[in-house]
Amino acid sequence: MRPELAINLVTLGPSIDFGAAVRLCAAYGIQHIGVTKEQVRSIGAGEANRVLRGEGISVTGYARVPAFPRRDEGGWQAALDEAFRVVDEARTIGAATLIATGGQSGGEYKDLHRARLYFAEGLEILLHRARQVGLPVSLEPLHPMYAADRGLFFTLRQAVDFCHTLPDKVGVIVDAYHLWWDPNFVDDLTRATGLIRGYHISDWRLPTRSLLTDRAMMGDGCIDLPRLRRLVEEAGYRGPHEVEIFSELDWWKRAPEETLKTCIERFATHC
Ligand code: ZN
Repeated sequence: MRPELAINLVTLGPSIDFGAAVRLCAAYGIQHIGVTKEQVRSIGAGEANRVLRGEGISVTGYARVPAFPRRDEGGWQAALDEAFRVVDEARTIGAATLIATGGQSGGEYKDLHRARLYFAEGLEILLHRARQVGLPVSLEPLHPMYAADRGLFFTLRQAVDFCHTLPDKVGVIVDAYHLWWDPNFVDDLTRATGLIRGYHISDWRLPTRSLLTDRAMMGDGCIDLPRLRRLVEEAGYRGPHEVEIFSELDWWKRAPEETLKTCIERFATHC
């Protein structure tokens, strides 16, 4: 049986507003979308929820948990306020999970190990709040090219091991773009069985022109997506497969409807 297709709204680019993007997805039979806090805040979580319910669309993942600085630093309270805000927003829009990547160290921390300790401290407080409202939280490891400025976890193994140190059960998001290269991916998927709360798909463009916004459409890059799909399904994941394409130089320049139609076609033929 084919898995369900989800669309991360980032895929449709910045030219379309939240409401129009949701309605476009609904018109093409998409029942699940992933969203960022920037998209939701553009109209407010309450209004976003109203639009989603009106179209019968559910939210897969809500991105993202903020970075946490050292507890005695000035940004700590602001990070905590932001953490509670994203929990509330994720609940308001009924997201299946809130996504954490470790935050954006932004060059603030050269010591990634220490940065993970700070992150764990903030995340534990967030998890307490998330538990109170019944919101699952998931950690998404990023490609190591983001080590200097975005993520704190770069392999599935690292993410799963970190999750096991936390007081609450935290799931993981498997993103083909971030993890396709990892020689331990097969073993690590086995270790992640029961923890996988999302599977993101796109492709790796050659040559890559931007570290952040040059993901390719499925079938236009070098990732063996049918193999990854088989592995993720063998690890027990049964949820939607979510297209997540950041593409400033290509897909975001096209009409969102063309991008969406291509996602649907390629999902059927190349995933
Ligand atoms: Zn992702």
